[in-house]
Amino acid sequence: MSITLHNASIDAVLAEAREAYVAANPRSLARHVEATAAMPGGNTRTILHFAPFPMAIERADGCRLWSADGGEYIDFLGEYTAGLYGHAHPVIRAAIDEALDRGIGYGAVNMTEARFAAALAARFPAMERLRFTNSGTEANVMAIASACAYTRRRKVMVFEGGYHGGVLGFAGGGSAINVPYDWLVAPYNDEDAATALIAEHGAELAAVIVEPMMGSAGCIPATRTFLQALRSATQRAGTLLICDEVMTSRLSLHGLAATMDVRPDLMTLGKYLGGGMSFGAFGGKADIMSLFDPRRPDALRHAGTFNNNVLTMAAGLAGLTHVLTTEAVAALNARGEALRFRLNALCERAGAPLQFTGRGSMMAAHFVRGPVRNAADAARSDPKLMELLFFDLLSRSIWIARRGMMSLSLAISDAECDALAEAVAAFLDERGPLLARQSGQSSLRAAAM
Ligand code: PMP
Repeated sequence: MSITLHNASIDAVLAEAREAYVAANPRSLARHVEATAAMPGGNTRTILHFAPFPMAIERADGCRLWSADGGEYIDFLGEYTAGLYGHAHPVIRAAIDEALDRGIGYGAVNMTEARFAAALAARFPAMERLRFTNSGTEANVMAIASACAYTRRRKVMVFEGGYHGGVLGFAGGGSAINVPYDWLVAPYNDEDAATALIAEHGAELAAVIVEPMMGSAGCIPATRTFLQALRSATQRAGTLLICDEVMTSRLSLHGLAATMDVRPDLMTLGKYLGGGMSFGAFGGKADIMSLFDPRRPDALRHAGTFNNNVLTMAAGLAGLTHVLTTEAVAALNARGEALRFRLNALCERAGAPLQFTGRGSMMAAHFVRGPVRNAADAARSDPKLMELLFFDLLSRSIWIARRGMMSLSLAISDAECDALAEAVAAFLDERGPLLARQSGQSSLRAAAM
């Protein structure tokens, strides 16, 4: 018998959920064990690991995933925003097939890269000139390096909980493998603190890099005042403002900062814009980007074997010009916004200590009452309840990030949104007493601190 009794402890309920997961996924477990022979912990992308072992996916189509163990799931993760087109979108597929017919890896410029760059520059006006990279990480590394070269300064301001790539992570005090810049870490959405720091370090500060909505930290949007304050303070200090729109560029036609009337000096892109292929781009004001003009005798060199790889160029261009129309972007974000409102209404009605933050087609769950404005607010979320939500949704055939993030693809329709809302409603219903007890205990703990 299930131990979802009204007085069961969170640990007992979680143990039961994990056991059910282990029992349902023997082939994923076998794959994991095998994988540990060649990769540390069986893993090559940290975020994909979770205890007791990650579920292995064998195949995907549209907004569905099929696991190695025969499970079928609705993909609400959308590859952490890179999967905007859905799996195997016919336009993207045709573009890749056609590119393959002409061979890959020319060791030369090709006929697609400049067209793709022009389409991106037209879509994101802050990118007067741009260059391609192979990932969002690389795009941000290049943008920061460009800012340092342009301003001849070395300090870079980032925000607590911000994430700009594998060597640019600022959650929990940063990372030992971050690139060694002289980082200044400020609290997100605190314009007074940021403005004061910019004024204090202005003469040495090359750049401020900011996500217009923190993605990895849990879909926490910047306020308009905060982003605008960063814009004016950087302008006063001669510091470059870099907007990392690797995730958020999908949230409106011209990116998220544009909706707040903020035009950065440099902007970075990644994820979905490569049509699902490896992709990144950095760009901005023409005079800054002209540092890379190879016709200049003093040009900065920007290398990368795969920067103009024909599969990314073809898939990205086809998606941007044929699929991501004004209407498609608006409809996707309206669907996401409606879904988030609906989920939050369910949580409110249940009086649950759960909320979904985000904008448009991106959202994240937080087991927190009250506003979530920065990493410190998000850190109050109960990790055990998050794990339970993940396994409960999985048992109802819904795939989200283990840390509670979701992003919608174009393949998701109202039917899938209904299925998610029903699954969240069932979670709230079934786990209601546990949620109430657990959140009561966290408030007592918080009050005692
Ligand atoms: N910036 C942001 C805002 C991101 O969310 C990510 C990826 N999660 C990156 C940069 C890094 O992109 P990539 O994983 O392609 O290196």
